[in-house]
Amino acid sequence: MGETEGEFQTRPYYQEVIAMSDKVRVRFAPSPTGALHIGGAHTALFNWLWARHRGGTFILRIEDTDSERSTQEYERTIMDGMNWLGLDWDEGPDKGGGFGPYRQSERMDLYKKYADELLEKGLAYKEGEAVLFRVPRGIELTLDDTIYGSIKIQSEKASVNTDGSVKDIVIIKSDGMPTYNYAVVVDDHTMDITCVIRGEDHIANTSKQMLIYRALGWEAPEFAHLPMVLGKDKKKLSKRHGATSVFEYSDMGYLPDGVFNFLALLGWGPGGGDEVFSRSDGVRMFELSKVTKKAAVFDMDKLNFINQEHLKRMSPDARLAAVKPFWEALGLPADSHGVKYLEDSLTLMGGRGRTTKELAEYSDYFLDFEPVRLRYDASEIAPELLPKLNKFYAEMIRLPEWAAAGMEAFARKWCEKNGTPLKEVALPMRWALTGRKVSPGVFEVAELLGREECAKRLEYYKFLNV
Ligand code: GLU
Repeated sequence: MGETEGEFQTRPYYQEVIAMSDKVRVRFAPSPTGALHIGGAHTALFNWLWARHRGGTFILRIEDTDSERSTQEYERTIMDGMNWLGLDWDEGPDKGGGFGPYRQSERMDLYKKYADELLEKGLAYKEGEAVLFRVPRGIELTLDDTIYGSIKIQSEKASVNTDGSVKDIVIIKSDGMPTYNYAVVVDDHTMDITCVIRGEDHIANTSKQMLIYRALGWEAPEFAHLPMVLGKDKKKLSKRHGATSVFEYSDMGYLPDGVFNFLALLGWGPGGGDEVFSRSDGVRMFELSKVTKKAAVFDMDKLNFINQEHLKRMSPDARLAAVKPFWEALGLPADSHGVKYLEDSLTLMGGRGRTTKELAEYSDYFLDFEPVRLRYDASEIAPELLPKLNKFYAEMIRLPEWAAAGMEAFARKWCEKNGTPLKEVALPMRWALTGRKVSPGVFEVAELLGREECAKRLEYYKFLNV
């Protein structure tokens, strides 16, 4: 075969650390054959974090050589998903850049050029219309993976048939299309990618790709393979585990910042500190070398916790903007209330609700009486109790000042005087105002709803007679 023994190494990570001025160029290379799913979003996010942390360049490359399954719509949805998560790219099919085109289908001349070069050098051969790369023997490959460490592989094991014999690698199919393992090398090299960050399921491909780099006389980039994202049952995340596309999470009321934070924690963590962080803190703290190789489990409870924390930390106007569509989806008249009133009602919810959707549901009574009427019919109130309630609410509704503290002080005093437990008047009031067993402090709710609205709701249930 004329092959000599030798070592072929990827660019060691420490060189990157020493040469901080070395510009980082990373890429996310989705195939537009479906929406942006959690695994893809995870990969995109880690690339983005690393690019932003290092002040580098984040490239979006569309791997659309599977012309039967690739569509422009999917390309659009992937971009929409990335935009939703706030993962902006610096170069890409829509943005352009100095290393385009950014769709593989538009780079056919490059794939042909280097296939011809391999053919000329005798490192590839034709079989019909297809071009096959001849797998060399006796080469020891060392993949110095930033995350998985040093992985050694003999060239003859890089591509094998089921019986273990060496299998030459198809680089151009008989229809003229390049294969993934070949196109990715041509693209990563010609796009000057310094570091390939992708899922661990591509480790086996990497040795094939390293052989192609070597044959073309190119230095391979740094490789950093990310741990797989598994479902709770430790199986690869799939539709069976629930929502897979990022837009399903948006529809369920998860915040982009919450999903971002949650995905960043799959295989990485700031260590010791708070697991809840903003996008910019994530960028500041992220370290590629600190990513673990242990598979990460997609834990819905954790997502809920992280999302809720972000919901709590949001500014009132941002929270209102996030919740409003969900109120509208519930048919609630958000627009017939003032912005301040709506913001205050969400603030009063005091961190209740794990998602914007839950928060919208829990706070529905601030927008309309209708959902309260549908939930509560006051049938548990014994008729003998009504005169007492009437007496209490008649006095309460006439308090000179409509403020929670005053109302509560009045209620306590009144109950003491009349030998009535406070809950006997406060519980029916909570039900009548909110239609719920649990709510923020009932006097606070009453204050915000306003005297008139409270009178209306109490009257409806015959708790108040005027
Ligand atoms: N198009 C490939 C994929 O979706 C890209 C893999 C890579 O990043 O090299 O898996």
